[in-house]
Amino acid sequence: MADGARLIPPPIAMLAELTHRCPLSCPYCSNPVDLARREAELSTEDWADVFRQAAGLGVLQVHLSGGEPASRRDLAQIVAAAREAGLYVNLITSGIGLTEERLTEIVAAGVDHIQLSVQGTRAETADRVGGYRGGFAKKMEIAEAIARAGVALTLNAVMHRHNLGELPEVFDLAERLGARRVEIACVQFQGWALENRAVLQPTRAQVDEAKDLVAEARSARAGRLVIDFVPPDYYADLPKACMGGWGSTGLNVAPDGTVLPCHAAQTIPGMRFANFRDLTLEEIWYRGPAFAAFRGTDWMPDPCRSCDRREIDFGGCRCQALAVLGDAAAPDPVCRRTEGRTRLDELLRAEGNAPDLEAARWRRIGG
Ligand code: SF4
Ligand code: SF4
Repeated sequence: MADGARLIPPPIAMLAELTHRCPLSCPYCSNPVDLARREAELSTEDWADVFRQAAGLGVLQVHLSGGEPASRRDLAQIVAAAREAGLYVNLITSGIGLTEERLTEIVAAGVDHIQLSVQGTRAETADRVGGYRGGFAKKMEIAEAIARAGVALTLNAVMHRHNLGELPEVFDLAERLGARRVEIACVQFQGWALENRAVLQPTRAQVDEAKDLVAEARSARAGRLVIDFVPPDYYADLPKACMGGWGSTGLNVAPDGTVLPCHAAQTIPGMRFANFRDLTLEEIWYRGPAFAAFRGTDWMPDPCRSCDRREIDFGGCRCQALAVLGDAAAPDPVCRRTEGRTRLDELLRAEGNAPDLEAARWRRIGG
């Protein structure tokens, strides 16, 4: 390892996007618009090698995601390979494609935790948002099976303009399903969600109400349910440290083996990404140009360069800067200390009257 590389901390978490295939077609999906096809996906053996290398590098936990991970017939073998590498295994699933029999195999393979996503709390909303009739009923069946199997469960709900009204019911549903934790994430505008931003953008009134409801629920359900709430970036005054800082704590491996600093990084024009099939994870993490591009603070423009928050938020999200300002090297436009915020406020005004959900562009790729 070169001397410069010794100053770079190892990653602790990895997102393994096993496939982009998914039976659902949520318009808020953060997968890239150019979805990877089945033929391009890494094999079971490739993933086992990814996990061994990741553990050797310092990764402690892997999040198996997609697309829908259950669209891979070898999901149980993939879980087993991750456990054999010594990783804590979190499975992020819509539940569609899982059966009690497959769940039993996955549990036997050593899955540590399951995050089950819901598109709403009523079948009508959930099936409409997910574009899959009968999906909600299937999810409820698999949630009961997860409870019977005794695996720790988190309920995930991505909220937006068309389902934020169901927020109080999300807490009830989580408790009813035996989840100890619920993660409410307001839609992040990347991938398909960015295509549908005008349709999905919540209003400020909805977001303010949601914050109040979360505060009330946290106090009323303390000791029973942990509530994580990710408010929408666009209504904040200061940005978050995206990925905990670019190239500082985590990495993503896309279905075809492309190794990314964050799952939307491929939207950045001109950036070259290495593939696991060509280089080791160690080479990519410590010496890959894409990881070096926005790591630390040296790349920063003004006013970030002299800002007291530069090592707190690392200038925010590069993909958000690109999406709103057309420049991935600009400060995150959420930041009220920067000129880019004017553009974001204009955009919020322009997208104030959202069209109906039917106007969305639905994500499509078979499961
Ligand atoms: S379409 Fe929906 S369920 Fe499928 S990967 Fe995207 S967000 Fe998840
Ligand atoms: S100026 Fe840059 S570093 Fe400072 S708060 Fe804004 S985005 Fe963060």
